[in-house]
Amino acid sequence: MKPNINMPKEVELAINKLNDNGFQAYVVGGCVRDSILGIEPTDWDITTSALPLNIINCFKNYKIIETGLKHGTVTVIIDDMHLEITTYRIDGEYKDNRRPDDVQFTSEIAYDLQRRDFTINAIAYNHKNGIIDLYDGIKDIELKLIKCVGEPDKRLNEDGLRIIRALRFASVLNFEIELNAANSIHKNKDLLTNISSERIAVEFNKLITGINFKNVLTEYKGVIAVFIPEILNIVNWESTLSIMSNTSNVLSLKLAVMLHDIGKLENNNSYVNAKRSSAIASNILKNLKYDKELVNFVKKLVLYYGEEIQPSSINVKRWLNKIGIEMFIMLLEIKKAHIKAQDNLFQEKSYDIEQIEFIMKDVLIKKQCFTLKDLAVNGEDLIEIGLPVGKYIGEVLNGLLTMVIDEELENDKDKLLNYVKIFIKNT
Ligand code: ATP
Ligand code: MG
Repeated sequence: MKPNINMPKEVELAINKLNDNGFQAYVVGGCVRDSILGIEPTDWDITTSALPLNIINCFKNYKIIETGLKHGTVTVIIDDMHLEITTYRIDGEYKDNRRPDDVQFTSEIAYDLQRRDFTINAIAYNHKNGIIDLYDGIKDIELKLIKCVGEPDKRLNEDGLRIIRALRFASVLNFEIELNAANSIHKNKDLLTNISSERIAVEFNKLITGINFKNVLTEYKGVIAVFIPEILNIVNWESTLSIMSNTSNVLSLKLAVMLHDIGKLENNNSYVNAKRSSAIASNILKNLKYDKELVNFVKKLVLYYGEEIQPSSINVKRWLNKIGIEMFIMLLEIKKAHIKAQDNLFQEKSYDIEQIEFIMKDVLIKKQCFTLKDLAVNGEDLIEIGLPVGKYIGEVLNGLLTMVIDEELENDKDKLLNYVKIFIKNT
């Protein structure tokens, strides 16, 4: 296979500049791997024989960010493109299974490739020398294999993050993990306890939204359980994964489906189970340091996951009022995914969901009222007809909204104000 690596002009410029100053430079890692796979790289990393200060000097006419300087990384901004340029590096000893204690710079690219995690990520390229593939990464790309550079036990012990990175690549690229690496991952899974939750979550998010997540989460459930022990309590893991594969690729949806039964106990009714699952899901995500908004979103999706939604306009408006349009649409999607996974009931039950969707669209197109914002009267209108300023106003407005949603009153300013006037007179 002759790889086709189309570097953007900014990357060529950077490599040329380093060459002109007497240094070697290659693109390396994810961008080379993705180019070979025919996937457009998200970012381009450059590795070079230039020391950090040399890099800064080469790009003194450009904007530079020095955040990773200690590890040899300089970010150079060329025409709005952020390029990470890193000095060839030999990682020092790893004492905490997480980060090398010190890094040593080298002028040999071979050492730099040796420190990289997987063979598919250890390929370098430049126009002058072509592909540098000392670990047969291209062959492994063809074989669709995630294989460690060097001895798996040693490499995973150096940095436990590589365990979840391997799973992530297997899912996103739809690759297999090579047998020795797979055995080592199972054996060394507890090394993940040394890794920060934030870094695990970044990889885990990519994993569960990857194309091959179902196989990975089946084969490596015990590895995931190192940072989400509660998943071992999910009895119907297989069917949970099937439901997950029926949703669109949105992180909150995948998480909500994955965790929807996490608190299920045989003897509880479904309401109690939903509350339990929702609370446990929220704790899991908080511990993994997901942002508050996502935690709350998933928590609610899990809570309402199993609730029945009647296909009537009053009911749909009540739901829209309670959880908003975005979450309601997601809830319907989850319900469809769930029904689809139990295909014997699909025809009959999906009809209900379609009806609900139809009603929802109608409510939205007709701009029917389901929030205080849509209500034809506001607080000032009520004060104008003589209501006292204060908490009472809010209560009246909410009362009116409920009656409008329930179609007991029309959303018409005069009619609503008249109703309030009569109500006041009678009380
Ligand atoms: P992505 O497409 O997600 O960016 P990537 O392979 O480029 O994938 P990065 O985290 O951007 O991943 O890392 C860039 C390169 O640095 C990798 O391809 C790999 O060569 C190396 N690398 C990253 N993390 C590690 C690690 N934990 N251990 C060893 N090498 C690593
Ligand atoms: Mg990358």
